[in-house]
Amino acid sequence: MAGLQVRIYGDTILRKKAKLVRNIDDELRHLIKQMAETMRASQIGVGLAAPQVGRLVRVAIVREDADDDVPIHCLINPRLVEQEEEQTGSEGCLSFPTLRADVQRPLRVLVEALNPDGDEIHLEAEGLLARVLAHEIDHLNGVLFIDRAERDSLGWLIPDEDADDGYRIESTSLDQVHRKLDRLRQETE
Ligand code: ZN
Repeated sequence: MAGLQVRIYGDTILRKKAKLVRNIDDELRHLIKQMAETMRASQIGVGLAAPQVGRLVRVAIVREDADDDVPIHCLINPRLVEQEEEQTGSEGCLSFPTLRADVQRPLRVLVEALNPDGDEIHLEAEGLLARVLAHEIDHLNGVLFIDRAERDSLGWLIPDEDADDGYRIESTSLDQVHRKLDRLRQETE
């Protein structure tokens, strides 16, 4: 199954509020499957929200780790019902290729949602998964991680053989982010 095209920052759909799902039907389940395929194909993604693939519905998928063996949680109409304490850490987004920034998020969250069978689920998460859930629910409201990022922390991930983990961060500004991603978006459209 082919993956879907991920919308790049600057695409106006990323700023729109997604609509509640009223009907969980085969079409929606197909969308979720395609989203999972798209996230797996990215190899690095740990979350994806429907607006990122051009669909304004309240659907998001998340996983704890970018590893194919880690199960993917599929969330329909997810709501952040509780959050506790805070964490600050590096974050990225498939709609902002290679950009990283430090973002403050809740350390622990409780999310309520429906699964693809229409059953209500409660997902308690901590650490990275709590971060991912908060990030994806933001997407459904047109909020992007750069809105919450600590301004001085914006940087591009650059492959670097000398670095411990194979990458270094090259500091950037919001203006440069806009320019670079505008160009990238125009190339992919
Ligand atoms: Zn994102």
